[in-house]
Amino acid sequence: RWEQALEWLAARPDIHEVILSGGDPLTLTNRRLEQLLDALAAIPHLRRLRIHSRTPVVIPERLDAGLKALLTRDRWQTVLVLHANHPREISPALVARCRDWRSAGMTLLNQSVLLAGVNDRVDTLADLSDVLFDAGVLPYYLHQLDAVQGAAHFAVPDVIARELHADLRARLPGFLVPRLTREEPGEPAKTVLAG
Ligand SMILES: *Cc1c(COP(=O)(O)O)cnc(C)c1O
Repeated sequence: RWEQALEWLAARPDIHEVILSGGDPLTLTNRRLEQLLDALAAIPHLRRLRIHSRTPVVIPERLDAGLKALLTRDRWQTVLVLHANHPREISPALVARCRDWRSAGMTLLNQSVLLAGVNDRVDTLADLSDVLFDAGVLPYYLHQLDAVQGAAHFAVPDVIARELHADLRARLPGFLVPRLTREEPGEPAKTVLAG
């Protein structure tokens, strides 16, 4: 069903960015991605390509040379948004690839989900920001959970989440503090709980 989306994008010169996101676009092969990027690159008003993926966090090798060549091939700026939740997820293999991609000119961001018992301590969140920055990645969002079935035990109350965020702001430079947000169905953007 790409055809219809591509036609729509081509007819909308006010659209400057395309996001490949959820599912996980990096579960596609480089060949499939190349077919899509070939079609997108033919649309002159697109300036940014953004990819949201958790795959590199669990399989750093997915950031392979072929993919790097593909994502730096065209005129646009490429932004890769990783989904890491804990500093121990940032392995040496991931750090090496992120640094390499950063020096190839890509912008690297991270979004996390605030998870009770996993990363709901200011030390853990501050470590995560430090470790990400060392790898050339900026923290972007810290999400409150989507209300999905079976995940309630990971929920952190908003009042606690805001406190954690304030502690983080007191501890870190502003550019290492992710925005605390929640995704609300029907809203045009994420709801910011603390910026
Ligand atoms: C929020 C979100 C986006 C959109 O990002 P913005 O920077 O808010 O435009 C895309 N993909 C995922 C998975 C997101 O959570």
